[in-house]
Amino acid sequence: MPELTALETLFPSGHEQVVLCQEPDVGYRAIIALHSTVLGPATGGTRLWRYASTADALADALRLSRGMTYKNAAAGLALGGGKAVILAPEGPVDREQLFLAHGRAVQRLGGRFITAEDVGTTPADFMVAARETAWVAGIDGRGGDPSPWTGRGVLAGILACARHRWGAASLAGRTVAIQGCGNVGADLARRLHAAGARLVLCDVDAARATALATELGAATVSPDVIFDVAADLFAPCALGGVLTDATIARLRVAIVAGAANNPLATDRHAVALAARGILYAPDFVINAGGVISGSVALLGETHEAMVRRVDGIGDTMDAILAESAREDITPLRAAERRAEAALATARRH
Ligand code: NAD
Repeated sequence: MPELTALETLFPSGHEQVVLCQEPDVGYRAIIALHSTVLGPATGGTRLWRYASTADALADALRLSRGMTYKNAAAGLALGGGKAVILAPEGPVDREQLFLAHGRAVQRLGGRFITAEDVGTTPADFMVAARETAWVAGIDGRGGDPSPWTGRGVLAGILACARHRWGAASLAGRTVAIQGCGNVGADLARRLHAAGARLVLCDVDAARATALATELGAATVSPDVIFDVAADLFAPCALGGVLTDATIARLRVAIVAGAANNPLATDRHAVALAARGILYAPDFVINAGGVISGSVALLGETHEAMVRRVDGIGDTMDAILAESAREDITPLRAAERRAEAALATARRH
């Protein structure tokens, strides 16, 4: 029976609750996936996207919400994992009505889900949604721009990788190849430059890479050869899925550590990197600075505590790399274990 297909996907995924929401009058159709509220309210962005099928939308909501559970747990936050996807309506849409409807859907979950902007949505959309629900973050006065915090956390993680690989948490004289010079890529580039690294930059928007290279005295290459650059470290800061069998075979670096979400095409590629002797910093650990900064208001933490937590990404990475070496497992598996242990402890209590 075809209608059972979605259920067969849902039950093994282990999600606590998956909600289908709609208001046909305004063209609003969404899936809100709460993967886990074990550590706290399920927290994650809302994506607005035109999916090829509703099955794709469901798969995305399930995958992304699970990722948020791991990211929040690995960062030591008292927050669970969730994600919403709004299926972009065909034809013209009243965006205000769409996000008011989303606000009502989020409100009906009574605080079990807290959301913010993501791909295809903006803080302004959540100012609208906030007229219907209290459960939004990342709007004015509730978090602000996450990118500098993401960049700061990525640098802390990179220094831990350097200590692990080269025996010293120093980047002086090291060469870093950066893919993507957007919000986080540019921020990270400035931090790496200040730390004494030489930079090789690329962006599909060539003007963006050139402007940053001029500012920092860096080199640029075209995006299609960034995987071939002989460097100490490769920092993916653009899209996900860039590390495949083909691109991993081309890498000439000792470390892969950057801001991009899901840079590995599949989890299997963490093993492929290890087999080539390349140290991989798990994305959901190293890029958690933005989520941490956004959680201040939610958790009632002070700014100082938040900064300590972002810088603490370095210590977390240290512990993960030590466990990976000790247990002869990939850093990705060690990071997952750490998150799973936090969840198991919380469940017991
Ligand atoms: P952004 O859109 O500001 O920047 C991405 C940049 O990558 C753009 O300049 C784009 O032109 C470039 N780009 C796209 N495809 C490319 C390619 N194939 N080769 C080279 N350049 C390419 O996005 P961002 O906010 O800087 O985020 C970058 C990555 O980090 C994303 O994967 C995002 O999910 C992840 N991330 C961001 C944050 C944050 O705080 N912004 C937090 C966690 C994770």
